[in-house]
Amino acid sequence: MTAPHDERVAALRLRLTESSVHAAVLAPGSDLRYLTGYDALPLERPTLLLVTREGPARIVVPRLERMRAQAEVSLSDLVVVDYGEHDDALGLAAELLDASEAASIAVGDRTWTSFTLGLQRALPGRSWCSATELVAHGRRVKDALEVERLAAVAARIDDVHRRVPDVLVAGRTEAEVAADLSAMITEEHERVDFVIVASGPNAASPHHEPGERRLQRGDAVVVDIGGTRDGYCSDMTRTYAVGSVPEGFAEPYAALRRAQQAAIDAVRPGATVGDVDAAARDVLEAAGLGEAFVHRTGHGIGLDTHEEPWIIGGGTRVLEPGMAFSVEPGFYLEGRFGARIEDIVVVTTDGVRVLNVVDRDLVVVP
Ligand code: ZN
Ligand code: ZN
Ligand code: ZN
Repeated sequence: MTAPHDERVAALRLRLTESSVHAAVLAPGSDLRYLTGYDALPLERPTLLLVTREGPARIVVPRLERMRAQAEVSLSDLVVVDYGEHDDALGLAAELLDASEAASIAVGDRTWTSFTLGLQRALPGRSWCSATELVAHGRRVKDALEVERLAAVAARIDDVHRRVPDVLVAGRTEAEVAADLSAMITEEHERVDFVIVASGPNAASPHHEPGERRLQRGDAVVVDIGGTRDGYCSDMTRTYAVGSVPEGFAEPYAALRRAQQAAIDAVRPGATVGDVDAAARDVLEAAGLGEAFVHRTGHGIGLDTHEEPWIIGGGTRVLEPGMAFSVEPGFYLEGRFGARIEDIVVVTTDGVRVLNVVDRDLVVVP
């Protein structure tokens, strides 16, 4: 498949025109990767992509990054403007924007404040807005290549979860288990993004940092792991029981299993993000676990682990084919235990494709 970056920049130009904005400025981050393919280093030396309504896109880069930028940016019409160690990079970017008579300028949300303030000082009297908003629509709806990348990385994290029972051994610490899982993720991904191993009462904290607690028989353990491969992220949770199922756990877990399935079943074009959230929340509320489900049902995923669309209660955003997000209800009972089940799904033309396939029933590790 050919690189889609020319089309993405063309779409951004269209949005600029529609929004009466003259130029967009993007710093290193996933918006820049989305538009150009360039995984630029977020340095104190500014790297700034400048997209105006007409003319080639320009990228201002430190001279020592020029070769990487030229190799990685896959735009057919691009001018690389480099600067030396003692040059005023923001002044240079401001000059280019000034020369293109940009009166209204959009800046990406991930741009360092020092860069934005520097540009604003150099370009007084302009109006400023968020460039991320202008790129967001394209990023929310994945194209076929992006869906395949997400499916491929989801299959990798499935493989890691299949191996989790081997390392969940009573007597080991969460940190030891997490180190093993990091190594496994590294085998399958180019980068580990996060490893949550939350055992026993620690599982009541959704983003627990793995620590020195030793796994015990009768613990429920939440394992939530993710990494990046070919630029796209995985994110998947299963809950395991060590030796035996904790007392009072089987019933709420069964409700959680039903809640997650109900949310997956609610995914289709035309449904809202609120419908998906409600499908999970209704089941947990009916089981008396409404208060214990302390977070949204899911988040979009792509170049970032967390991106739009947000699967939130009351959310009115309408699902479109190509949207990809997590479905991850959970319950968290302080002092006792917690559980979460998380899969990545993609909206299809007539329903849903679930990218993670590992069994969702509670796995009791011998
Ligand atoms: Zn999370
Ligand atoms: Zn997760
Ligand atoms: Zn997630």
